[in-house]
Amino acid sequence: MSENSTFDQIGDLLRRHQSFVILSHVRPDGDAIGSQIALGFALEAVGKSVRLINEDGLPDNLAFMAGSDRIETPPADPVDCEVVIALDTATKPRLGDAALHAASAGKVWINIDHHVSNPRYGDFNYIDSTSPATGQILYELITALDLPCPAETRDAIYVAVSTDTGSFQYPSTTAKTYEMAAELIKRGLDVGKINELIYDNHPFRRVELMRALLNTLERSADGRVAWWQMLDQTRVDLELRPEDSEGLIDIVRAIRGVQVAVFFEELPDGKIRVSMRSKDRRVDVCKIGQEFGGGGHALAAGIRMKGPLEEAKALVLAAIDRSVKAANF
Ligand code: 5GP
Ligand code: MN
Repeated sequence: MSENSTFDQIGDLLRRHQSFVILSHVRPDGDAIGSQIALGFALEAVGKSVRLINEDGLPDNLAFMAGSDRIETPPADPVDCEVVIALDTATKPRLGDAALHAASAGKVWINIDHHVSNPRYGDFNYIDSTSPATGQILYELITALDLPCPAETRDAIYVAVSTDTGSFQYPSTTAKTYEMAAELIKRGLDVGKINELIYDNHPFRRVELMRALLNTLERSADGRVAWWQMLDQTRVDLELRPEDSEGLIDIVRAIRGVQVAVFFEELPDGKIRVSMRSKDRRVDVCKIGQEFGGGGHALAAGIRMKGPLEEAKALVLAAIDRSVKAANF
């Protein structure tokens, strides 16, 4: 299905069915977990039965979120459910094998996302690549359908949108985003408290990781591309968790003159995770990611690719160099 379903069509499905499994992507971030909690609690408030499943479970940095104890790792057997809702997940495999198995009894698939590269793998799809976060789409859906917005939903939408916009800073942030944030505050959101929990609450090991990464920082000769890297041994030495590196790439992105920031991470299975940020749509990192089987957004994208690290780096940096040269800044 290439067209978006309407909110009314999605609302009709939500009304007609009783049991839902809500999924989000592997290595979940604030938008993934926030979206699951937001929609899950809104549906429960109208009497639906809901399971919130994530391949990798709840990351430690989001355990402060009200309702986060409802995020489960996939049970071994398929969950009895009518409808599966995939949120914030650019491709079906990014939901994870175990999560896909747990959701395999679902008859109808709804896919709600903001990734431009999403191939519309649901029976019903709502992909809005102009939205800065899946959480913002869900706020629009919930208000359009007049669904309840309990405190868990309200706070989760704020976390989803704040984390995916770099605290309302990225160019994807729109007037609607700020209007929505204002409405959430009017609905009782404690903005100081929630920001403290999101941003001023890092484990010390994350700062140690920052120190290790800074030692590896490199720049292209013209200063337009900057990158750093993390060996798997660093994860072992510092006892890191996957979420510890979340958002650190913004330090590289914030360097004057840098158009593209890249983070190369060696994974325990030998694959390389690449995280890219661009400051200008002329260098579309989603397109660069797609050259290597990854994807995301024009200004923020990722890849999981074959190692070893030095080979992956050479390939990706060469592709970025071509794109920066073509942009002709
Ligand atoms: P991050 O760099 O924060 O991990 O990801 C940036 C964006 O790219 C996110 O929207 C994320 O969903 C997407 N992304 C990250 N890694 C991958 C990947 O391996 N494949 C695809 N298709 N998208 C990715
Ligand atoms: Mn997102």
